Amino acid sequence: MHMIEETSILIIYTGGTIGMIADNKTGALVPFNFENIDNHIPELGMFHYNLGFHCFEPILDSSNMNPAVWVELAQIIEKNYEIYDGFVVLHGSDTMAYTASAVSFLLENLNKPVIFTGSQLPLGVLRTDGRENLITAIEIAADKEDDTPIVPEVCIYFENRLMRANRTTKYNAENFNAFVSGNLPLIADVGIYIKYNKNIILKPNFKKLKVHKKMDTSVAVLKLFPGISENFVQSFLSISGLKAVILESFGTGNAPSESWFLNSLKNAINNGVIVLNVTQCMTGSVEHGKYETSIKLDEIGVISGRDITTEAALTKLMYLMGEGYDNHNIIQLLNQSLRGEVTLS
Ligand code: ASP
Repeated sequence: MHMIEETSILIIYTGGTIGMIADNKTGALVPFNFENIDNHIPELGMFHYNLGFHCFEPILDSSNMNPAVWVELAQIIEKNYEIYDGFVVLHGSDTMAYTASAVSFLLENLNKPVIFTGSQLPLGVLRTDGRENLITAIEIAADKEDDTPIVPEVCIYFENRLMRANRTTKYNAENFNAFVSGNLPLIADVGIYIKYNKNIILKPNFKKLKVHKKMDTSVAVLKLFPGISENFVQSFLSISGLKAVILESFGTGNAPSESWFLNSLKNAINNGVIVLNVTQCMTGSVEHGKYETSIKLDEIGVISGRDITTEAALTKLMYLMGEGYDNHNIIQLLNQSLRGEVTLS
């Protein structure tokens, strides 16, 4: 008899609103025992998949996520990689874009779906968005064509939209539609059908998964604002051990052209600090040389981050520095797309 192998999906619960219910007595939101998730979503029983569960201990509000936990998550996927066809990661939405971007860099040669999701309202609340988010994330993680996963990437699924993880930002604290992918079209649009945008989905390379396990946190984000002072910029750039700065600039990558500002950055760069320029805008790209205020940045050795998000820039730098590359190699790799995180042309 020909046996049909069952698709298997591992659901990893890290914490966040999705796994909460209102306490009977106090009404406050408390985490429920994830082993009993079937009680909250009986529909899970309708899947003809083998669903495995892994619950973080302790579970974390995503504001408490950090690079050590990102590595732990990547290692859980590594340990289960051969056993499961796909992975669904339940995570608080607040820092989901950071964790999911980080995991995209930590998992090299990923050939299976890793779909992050969560919710704005807990599963234990009648109007929850968590039920639909979880059910569809499982379906996407299991979806195959010619025995190959349709989405062999790290993605975020939220409110009918599947997005490449390292292109996302949380932009709405209240709407179910909480994430934006400002510089890349959706990986899939979900209505009655799941419409995959196959032209932009990364192709599997069928190589062996390589999991990176180090992140170097000697990087900081400098958000520009009108009125920023010399004292502030110089104090920031003299943080001890600082190796890289993400400069969140205005519009297409513009910054003050005052000499104290440019000289402060130039000194830091000459002392070996990498400065990567990303835009504060949700959509669009840094274009060095479009305005005079960015030509100068180029001249002193600031690297253009093009259309990368702050979340992806931060986690990419932590990953590259964690790998121990020298500055020359890091700059070369910042100018490449490693996991589809930046548009090069
Ligand atoms: N504070 C929660 C978290 O990010 C919010 C959420 O789950 O969406 O963990």
